[in-house]
Amino acid sequence: MLSVFIFVFGAILGSFANVIIYRVPREKSVVFPRSSCPHCNLLIRWYQNIPIVSYIFLGGKCANCKGKISIQYPIVELLTALMAIYLFPPIETLDLFPLIYFAFYLNIFIIFICHFFIDLEHKILPDGLNIYLFVLFVIYALFELELFNWIFGGLLGFFFPFMVAQVFYRLRGQHGLGGGDIKLYGVLGIYLGPVGIMQNLFLSCFLGSIVGLTLIITKRINKNVPIPFGPFIIVVATFQILFSEYYKKLLSLVMSQF
Ligand SMILES: [Zn+2]
Repeated sequence: MLSVFIFVFGAILGSFANVIIYRVPREKSVVFPRSSCPHCNLLIRWYQNIPIVSYIFLGGKCANCKGKISIQYPIVELLTALMAIYLFPPIETLDLFPLIYFAFYLNIFIIFICHFFIDLEHKILPDGLNIYLFVLFVIYALFELELFNWIFGGLLGFFFPFMVAQVFYRLRGQHGLGGGDIKLYGVLGIYLGPVGIMQNLFLSCFLGSIVGLTLIITKRINKNVPIPFGPFIIVVATFQILFSEYYKKLLSLVMSQF
C-alpha cells in the first residue's frame, strides 16, 4: 500500500520534471499557466494529465487535435516513480533523517533527469538547475563532508575541464566542452570530491567517445555536429551518487583486472 503511494508521489514529481524540461529552456514560468497541448494550445484537463495513465489512455495523442505526445513524458514519470521507490527508506528505519536523505536524493535525481533531456534536445544545461544543485550540495557538504575535500573537489571539477577546454580551443579553434558542462563538473565535484570528480571526467569522456564514434560510424550523425555532453556526465554521476554501492563494486571489479 505504501509502495503504491510512493509510486504515485514519484510519478507526480516526474510530471513536474516534464514541465521543467519543456518550459525552462523556452524561458517560461514553471508554475504558471497550466499545461496546454503544444500543437493546438488547448488547456489539458486534469483527467488528461494523470501521470503515465493518461498517456496510455489517450494512446500518445492529444484528445483534441490528435497531435503526437512524446513518449518522453511517461518515461520521465515512470523513471521518477521507480527512483522514489528505490530511494525510500525501509519502513523500520522510517524517521526524520532518513526522510531528509530521501528528499535530498530524489531532488538530485529530478535535476539529473531534467538536465539529461534538456541537454539532449536543446544542447544546454540551464544555469538555474546547476545553481539549485550547487545549493543542495553545499548544504549537504556543510553537514556531511570534510571541508578540504568538497572545496578542492569543486575547484578541481571546475578548473580542470576549464583548462582542458581552453587548450582544446587553442589547438582546434572550436569548443569541445560547453560552459554548462564545465559548471556541472564543478558542482558535482563538491559532492564527489577530487577523486570522484576525476573518475567522472574520465568515465564520461570515455562513454561519450564510444557513443559518439558509434553514431558517426553508423552515420546517425555528421562528425562536425557536436553531440551534447551533459547526458554522459549525468549517467556517470547517477551511478556514482544514487547507485554508489553498485558503482564501487563495478569499479573494484574493473580495477582488479589490471
Ligand atoms: Zn492538441
